[in-house]
Amino acid sequence: MTSSAQASIIDGKIISAELRARVAKEVERLQRDHGLTPGLAVILVGNDPASEVYVRNKGIATREAGMNSYEYKLPADTSEADLLAKVRELNADPAVHGFLVQFPVPDHISQQTVIDTIDPAKDADGLHPLNAGRLASGLPAMVPATPEGCLIMAKRAGGDLSGKHAVVIGRSNLVGKPVAQLLLKENCTVTIAHSRSRDLPAIAREADILVAAVGRANMVTRDWVKPGATVIDVGINRVPAPEKGEGKTRLVGDVDFKDVAGVAGAITPVPGGVGLMTVACLLRNTVIAACRAKAIELPEDF
Ligand code: NDP
Repeated sequence: MTSSAQASIIDGKIISAELRARVAKEVERLQRDHGLTPGLAVILVGNDPASEVYVRNKGIATREAGMNSYEYKLPADTSEADLLAKVRELNADPAVHGFLVQFPVPDHISQQTVIDTIDPAKDADGLHPLNAGRLASGLPAMVPATPEGCLIMAKRAGGDLSGKHAVVIGRSNLVGKPVAQLLLKENCTVTIAHSRSRDLPAIAREADILVAAVGRANMVTRDWVKPGATVIDVGINRVPAPEKGEGKTRLVGDVDFKDVAGVAGAITPVPGGVGLMTVACLLRNTVIAACRAKAIELPEDF
């Protein structure tokens, strides 16, 4: 962590670089000792510009870690049957140890059917109901990358999380629910808030660890935050930035960073926070999947 005048900044650049270095080291060992190169594949349907950027960045990070990267770009009018056929092909491909379908997919395709078709052992995003159920049962599972990144950052800021009150705003299967499960596993007392929660600021103010995973720019302001709390901002929102020129935009989180940095103990920035951890954790998941597939033990601290 680096320190600002007020809250400590939980720096995603530093923490994700450390994790990626650990992944690269492990990949090197797997290649050297076992002749195994973990492979991560991504399927992208359509040409949503934000998704294209995510997929490109994942590919770059995968190759930088010494792993094999596979990208499959399918046209926007790909039928659900054709996408499922591609998913089954990757389920059966021994060179692919983990893969994901970049969401959102076009409206004519059921996201849940796609998730249900992915082999849980290769489910790099940890979205398959079997993995969600295993996580909720406290069993080894493929854990969604963004929630894992949140946990690593919260631990970095707060050390032992046991007994702390964590409030997670958002209850999606992708972020909110698995973050809550991971915090529960760390023996936090967990509150999950959502769009129907009453008096959200009062609930948030109870938090020693506040995770915002909503998708509303700058929603969390300083009056929502207990002094000294750790604030993890998952939100990625594009807002107009007239100061950068006409029609320009910039990314902000769900937390009003400047405002909240004056009261929080530690805070993640956007950009430069959780988003960077997501890619690093995805790489880690792929290495874990490759090792499980080959019954290779990983170091305990991996
Ligand atoms: P979803 O839209 O699936 O879920 C949003 C959640 O926020 C829902 O549970 C919803 O409640 C809740 N919510 C919406 N409005 C309010 C409100 N006014 N008050 C309280 N709760 C509210 O989004 P995701 O979970 O997929 O993503 C959340 C954010 O995280 C987005 O900005 C997304 O871009 C970002 N994200 C970032 C990633 C990263 O790598 N950093 C990765 C994934 C997502 P309800 O269930 O009642 O509708």
